[in-house]
Amino acid sequence: MTQFVPAQSYYAASANLAPERPALEGLHETDVCVIGGGYTGLSTALFLAEAGFNVILLEAMTVGFGASGRNGGQIVNSYSRDLDSIEKQTSAPHLKHLAEMAFEGAQIIRQRVKAYDIQCDLKDGGVFAAITAKQLKHLESQQQLWRRFGYDQLELLDTRQIKEVVNTDRYVGGALDHTGGHIHPLNLALGEAAAFEQLGGKIFEHSLVTSFNQGETAEVVTAKGSVKAKFVVVAGNAYLGNLLPQLAAKSMPCGTQVIATEPLDEALAHSLIPKDHCIEDCNYLLDYFRLSGDKRMLYGGGVIYGARDPADIKNIIRPKMLKTFPQLANVKIEFTWTGNFLLTLSRLPQMGRIGHNIYYSQGCSGHGVTFTHVAGKALAMAIQGQAERFDAFANLPHYPFPGGRSFRIPFTAMGAAYYTLRDKLGI
Ligand SMILES: Cc1cc2nc3c(=O)[nH]c(=O)nc-3n(C[C@H](O)[C@H](O)[C@H](O)COP(=O)(O)OP(=O)(O)OC[C@H]3O[C@@H](n4cnc5c(N)ncnc54)[C@H](O)[C@@H]3O)c2cc1C
Repeated sequence: MTQFVPAQSYYAASANLAPERPALEGLHETDVCVIGGGYTGLSTALFLAEAGFNVILLEAMTVGFGASGRNGGQIVNSYSRDLDSIEKQTSAPHLKHLAEMAFEGAQIIRQRVKAYDIQCDLKDGGVFAAITAKQLKHLESQQQLWRRFGYDQLELLDTRQIKEVVNTDRYVGGALDHTGGHIHPLNLALGEAAAFEQLGGKIFEHSLVTSFNQGETAEVVTAKGSVKAKFVVVAGNAYLGNLLPQLAAKSMPCGTQVIATEPLDEALAHSLIPKDHCIEDCNYLLDYFRLSGDKRMLYGGGVIYGARDPADIKNIIRPKMLKTFPQLANVKIEFTWTGNFLLTLSRLPQMGRIGHNIYYSQGCSGHGVTFTHVAGKALAMAIQGQAERFDAFANLPHYPFPGGRSFRIPFTAMGAAYYTLRDKLGI
């Protein structure tokens, strides 16, 4: 299957040691079977193990194989569509829960890193950088919006102040989110997996789930084994393929690419991003970048609808990096990779239940590092019988893509081209 190609990423090359885990063989029984070893699956599994549940997690490849082990590492608060958009689509009680959770993912990650001593180069501070005056105005309203929901950690930056945090002439201003930040994403996933196992959780790798049978007790099936479970959590996101056709119809895998330079000289690294924050710009198709723990520039951007693997990632992303930092013209690119995230039409995540015991969460549309951690908590609470948070997500509308599976790619690409043109014109 084409989606199961390992990434030759900087993260894979600098991953902390992890045990080799066996593939599932024979018949197993458990309280909860989780499908997928990314943040959604791991976060759910860890919350459940902390609550005393027996949990088996099945991963098609290895822990962190998907987006969770390849992403930009940026801890970004709220959702891909912000609370003002959600407010128009839901009731006041659901909105209250969604607003609380919008700022909780970053806390969960920090708690996990501290509680389980996860070595993942955690740094504080995330910057939204405005290229146009219109984008800066939008950040002002974002600050007001977040304040309205009780969050006051977003500080606006004028043209002089943004240059103090990112040394480029591209930006007219920005906003610094003090509880944003960045991590080595694969090492966070590996640390969460280790924490889950310390609590008695079981992980089987190289265990692609090929089918499952619903029922009072569900049965999850792989090539060499099966798991009987009271509950199943489906957390395969953009790598799930057609395991659940009803989920595939309402989402679209998309690729985004990242490059990593060689380690930069300390003075050069400091001159580019003096406070070591992570940065994303405010374009519809955005650039995101930061320094790694060993001072490489990690620069990502672009979206490939339908998640075809691009032929030459360096030629796509390096010009974007040089537009922001011409200072890096003579620096070598040592790693390039691509990864898939899952887009939904509303850009809002999709959480739900099929029958009475198959739960799923997917589709955070590019901003998933925090959401997946919140999702894990909401799913784990729902399985324990406290469904308010789960219901708040599950009640958001899930739309099919216009054009179905044949035309969703060109339709969405046309929409993105329109918004990209608006970004370029600053309107
Ligand atoms: C290149 C890139 C950069 C990104 N940058 C950022 C960022 O900076 N900040 C941010 O907030 N978000 C970012 N995102 C999005 C974020 O990484 C994702 O939203 C998040 O990691 C999704 O986690 P997940 O656990 O739902 O899915 P994944 O991490 O993709 O995990 C799904 C797992 O399920 C497994 N699986 C699938 N099907 C099966 C099956 N049938 N049986 C068994 N296992 C299966 C897969 O092998 C995979 O390991 C980025 C995404 C990409 C691709």
